[in-house]
Amino acid sequence: MNKPDKSLIYPLFIPMQGCPGHCIYCDQSKISGASAFDLDDALVQVQAFIRRNPLVNKEIAFYGGSFSALPESEREHILSAILSVVDAQTSIRVSTHPLYIDKAILKHCKKFRVRTIELGIQDWHDQVLKASGRGYSADQAYKACMMIKMAGFKLGLQLMPGLPGASEESAILNNVMLNLVKPQFLRLYPLVVIKGTPLAELYQKGEYQPLSLTEAISICADYYELCRLTRVKIIKYGLPSNIDPTEVLAGPYHPSFGELVKQEILIRELRKHPDKREKLDASERQLLRAHGCRVLDQG
Ligand code: SF4
Repeated sequence: MNKPDKSLIYPLFIPMQGCPGHCIYCDQSKISGASAFDLDDALVQVQAFIRRNPLVNKEIAFYGGSFSALPESEREHILSAILSVVDAQTSIRVSTHPLYIDKAILKHCKKFRVRTIELGIQDWHDQVLKASGRGYSADQAYKACMMIKMAGFKLGLQLMPGLPGASEESAILNNVMLNLVKPQFLRLYPLVVIKGTPLAELYQKGEYQPLSLTEAISICADYYELCRLTRVKIIKYGLPSNIDPTEVLAGPYHPSFGELVKQEILIRELRKHPDKREKLDASERQLLRAHGCRVLDQG
């Protein structure tokens, strides 16, 4: 078993800052529900978080943009300010784009107490990456992952099932690459169609078909089974819960998506080992009963 990550995380959103391009599905301000980053506000929030949580490991995390793509002077300005108000138990986590990982960036990260780097890989298949406007190849993504690991950072990956061009072949490749890279943790964000994005246009023209909710749940449960074998911890299923549902045009969005995946995992487990039905604890029974699951009522 992987050791659980005991760090408390305080998220700061930098919507689309440092963004190198426009992935066809993306509008981070709608996805994160956050407005533009304000350092002064962030410092006040971080100070309060630190005061509330003394003497425990903590991470201040930058999400919603490509942190390492910001100019070095800006990264330095933000991180110096944040580090000036945190305690010794606090480190930094950044989420970024695979094209913005190199030796100089990693050295800078080390200098400013970055311990964890999350890479938005989204898919390992070149055609899928191209169709989604990601701007890098699978090879470049792989090299970025290896550089991060070899430099001693904790590596997290984000994958996005259901991208345009995804196929059985890309699904197999994604499994192979996940095995090869073995990040410390994984987030799974099945693709939803956000209003006003180029993907929304494709969808409205009938040129893109999103995953159904059932398909997305099943794919995430498949990843769980794979990750259990390879000891990669999955820390998130589905988009952040603060997304405005009225901005979702189509796709497998559900406010309790993670619970639905966990329910599916439990159902699969019970199908394989029916005797475990008697040994379920209260929270597992509650999980199975939520959302109308009838598996406990069946003989
Ligand atoms: S997913 Fe990231 S890189 Fe792509 S457009 Fe959004 S912020 Fe930019």
